[in-house]
Amino acid sequence: MPETVLVIGGGPAGLEAARSVAAIGGRAILVERRGVLGGTPDESSYAALTPRMGSAQDALDELRAGVADPAIDVRLETLVTGCSGSVGDFSVSLSGPGGESSERVGAIVVATGFQHFDPGRETQMYGYYEYPDVITLPDAEKMLKEHTFVRPSTGEPPRNVAFIQCVGSRDRRIGNEYCSKVCCGVASKEAIEIRRLLPDTKVYIFYIDMRMYGYWENEIYWPAQEQYNVTYIRGIVTEIVGKDGRLLMKGEDTTMGRPLEVLMDVIVLSVGMEPSRGTRDVAGILGVDQNKYGFIATPGEPMDPVSTSVPGIFVAGAAAGPKDLEDTIGMAGSAAIRAVAAVRGQAPAQPAAAR
Ligand SMILES: Cc1cc2nc3c(=O)[nH]c(=O)nc-3n(C[C@H](O)[C@H](O)[C@H](O)COP(=O)(O)OP(=O)(O)OC[C@H]3O[C@@H](n4cnc5c(N)ncnc54)[C@H](O)[C@@H]3O)c2cc1C
Ligand code: SF4
Repeated sequence: MPETVLVIGGGPAGLEAARSVAAIGGRAILVERRGVLGGTPDESSYAALTPRMGSAQDALDELRAGVADPAIDVRLETLVTGCSGSVGDFSVSLSGPGGESSERVGAIVVATGFQHFDPGRETQMYGYYEYPDVITLPDAEKMLKEHTFVRPSTGEPPRNVAFIQCVGSRDRRIGNEYCSKVCCGVASKEAIEIRRLLPDTKVYIFYIDMRMYGYWENEIYWPAQEQYNVTYIRGIVTEIVGKDGRLLMKGEDTTMGRPLEVLMDVIVLSVGMEPSRGTRDVAGILGVDQNKYGFIATPGEPMDPVSTSVPGIFVAGAAAGPKDLEDTIGMAGSAAIRAVAAVRGQAPAQPAAAR
């Protein structure tokens, strides 16, 4: 019986899953589509991480160091192109820089992650592709990583900045009814970073309702208001139009029940999470069920968040739905234990819903 676990995706989930497999005495093959490890936080140049403002770079370096282990075979620029067999003995085809190869593995962990919602899709009213000063959370992260925040159109510091929450999430019209879970915290964190860099800049967050999970409430939301004077406004933004070289935001202040028209220098769209192309592709190749949004289905939830519809194939991180890093890392450890148990023929019964 092959003793190896195949981990697909070298983001936080895949790195932690591979590290955990090795830590409990197993072997792993870690395949990553890109030429570097680190996942979306690396690809999108995240700056500081919620909730403690630690450096994303340091956190990723630590995760990458965890897979420098002889029990982990890291394959960059590699994709899974085929899979057959069943729990305990899968045969997978891999395509990488050295050409095609075939491996026998006992279990598989899918960690192919998410992609940011494209704000040009069906939400044209925000003018993302029209106005250079309308940006997204990851666009803002890129600037903040360089310790700067400017109006892209002029290179000057903005006098005021607005965040618009729930762009591409909680939106029935586009079929993404779910909450993306991290964007309220990430917007508040970025608002704090902007206020630290530019104390004269006014920062507003326009929300439907703020969703700060667990300790993020106390560690980000209240400091944003009390220490950094970020202004939260409950409202709906319906349109952004250019006016006199600035951006006119139109909508409704729902607390006051009155129309809203304000001029801004920069508007940040808090885009949500969607399944990555890789998550959709890999689901098809492995034959695991996806939920209605395209994320990998986890039929054993809530008690078993890592089993998929196929015995011996597990999922970790944002491939299974919107997740912060804490959820991602916790899930990766659990998926690794379950995968090693499957390889050793000690897999607990698949959850009833998955059988
Ligand atoms: C703007 C923004 C800011 C955020 N900031 C924070 C924060 O401050 N704190 C926090 O806790 N969380 C934050 N998050 C959430 C965090 O990014 C996720 O929790 C985390 O990235 C999930 O890790 P993952 O490994 O599951 O997915 P990803 O990071 O998306 O990694 C997936 C990996 O799989 C690879 N891959 C995809 N398809 C294939 C394939 N077919 N074959 C091989 N490899 C493949 C990808 O290249 C990538 O390396 C933020 C999210 C957003 C949207
Ligand atoms: S975390 Fe906040 S911004 Fe993101 S979808 Fe949920 S409520 Fe909207």
